[in-house]
Amino acid sequence: MARARVVVVGAGLAGGAAALAARRAGAAVTILRGRAGASALGAGAYDLKAIGAASSAPLAPEITEFFEAARAPVVLADALVCSAFGALRPTRGRDQQALAIEPARQHLVPDLQVDGWDAHAIAASLDAELRARGGAGARIVRGVFLREREEMRLPLAELAARHDDDARVDWLADRLAESLAGDAPRAVVLLPAVVGTRPAAMARLRARLSRPVGEALGVPGGAATARFLAWTDRALEAADVVRADAEVTAIALDARARLTLADGSVVDADALVLATGGVLTGSLLYGSGEHELARELPELVRPSLRLFASIARPDGDEPISVWLDGAPLAAAGSLFGREGERFLLGDRPRLLSAGLAADASQRVLDRAGAPVAGLYVAGDLVAGAHRAALAAVHGGARAGRNAALD
Ligand SMILES: Cc1cc2nc3c(=O)[nH]c(=O)nc-3n(C[C@H](O)[C@H](O)[C@H](O)COP(=O)(O)OP(=O)(O)OC[C@H]3O[C@@H](n4cnc5c(N)ncnc54)[C@H](O)[C@@H]3O)c2cc1C
Repeated sequence: MARARVVVVGAGLAGGAAALAARRAGAAVTILRGRAGASALGAGAYDLKAIGAASSAPLAPEITEFFEAARAPVVLADALVCSAFGALRPTRGRDQQALAIEPARQHLVPDLQVDGWDAHAIAASLDAELRARGGAGARIVRGVFLREREEMRLPLAELAARHDDDARVDWLADRLAESLAGDAPRAVVLLPAVVGTRPAAMARLRARLSRPVGEALGVPGGAATARFLAWTDRALEAADVVRADAEVTAIALDARARLTLADGSVVDADALVLATGGVLTGSLLYGSGEHELARELPELVRPSLRLFASIARPDGDEPISVWLDGAPLAAAGSLFGREGERFLLGDRPRLLSAGLAADASQRVLDRAGAPVAGLYVAGDLVAGAHRAALAAVHGGARAGRNAALD
């Protein structure tokens, strides 16, 4: 018998986990990647439920399996991490480069003169937070940590890429060692997210300095993003998943799913996993600020709503629709009427929870609440789901596996 063909739409954490799980379950898998989504805006922290909330719930096996299978440079352990602005917060997993803060130790903050790294403000904030936890505090470290003046204005991801060169890491290690000569060997060094786009650079720096060293969380679009994109792509390639850069514009469901792509071509699937991200934050362009987002909201939201409104089923079947607060919105068309106004411009947290309704197997539910054969959903696109990285992985892995066995 021919292997089931699973198509995954969206290549964020949910789509990536779905594709790898469907492959492991024996399906032939194609993943269609649109633009960058929420996963590519990550700062290097992987949370289970709410972003930055402490949680002692055990990690589901699907989550650990995904990171192991992807050989992802991610440490899955509770830790306190430091934001790019000097605030401490708990996380369940972190980019391997991110520093696990230990309040009892002294922390040292080198004043790299780069955009987005205000060492004075970070050291002051960190010092206050560490002391409030009974810790040893933090202080700024002065020195020359850039090789060229123009690096002050370089995007942080580019500066990180320069540290993929061993000689450059050794140079930084020597400069740091000079500046830290009088500090206790147990004192910890906190850097901005610029030490390499691959884990080897940080490993080398740690070995050369012989003291704990790591990064604060990055800014969206920085080095953590570059690392995320690199390891997910490598994992999909190694698993033999067919990857295509394509935007899906319409979906027709019958015995099989038929997807129309933006260039007019057509892809068929035995089972389909929708992992297109949050209605507000996923299938959309990323607005650069609250103000701009509010101004552009209707335009930003429309493409994703159009896609769901376009999911056609054989005559007589209940349509697929966006759910909010546990009930489907009255009609897809009404999104642009009175209800649409409430939906688009109403209060933001409720809007964030809108999405497609799913059952425990991640199957999409139609307006009558019945599962739709062959159609699965995962990640931020699920109505009411936790908008957090590990939740996206968990749902994605289940959706992919179930789609392969459909
Ligand atoms: C700024 C920001 C910071 C965050 N920080 C944290 C954090 O610190 N910790 C944490 O745990 N979580 C954080 N999150 C939440 C976390 O990133 C998300 O929960 C998770 O990444 C969702 O993954 P996803 O795969 O569901 O969606 P996404 O990563 O958004 O992926 C969806 C993908 O589908 C693609 N797509 C959409 N429409 C189509 C189409 N029609 N055709 C083809 N492709 C399409 C999109 O382009 C996108 O690439 C943050 C989110 C944001 C926005």
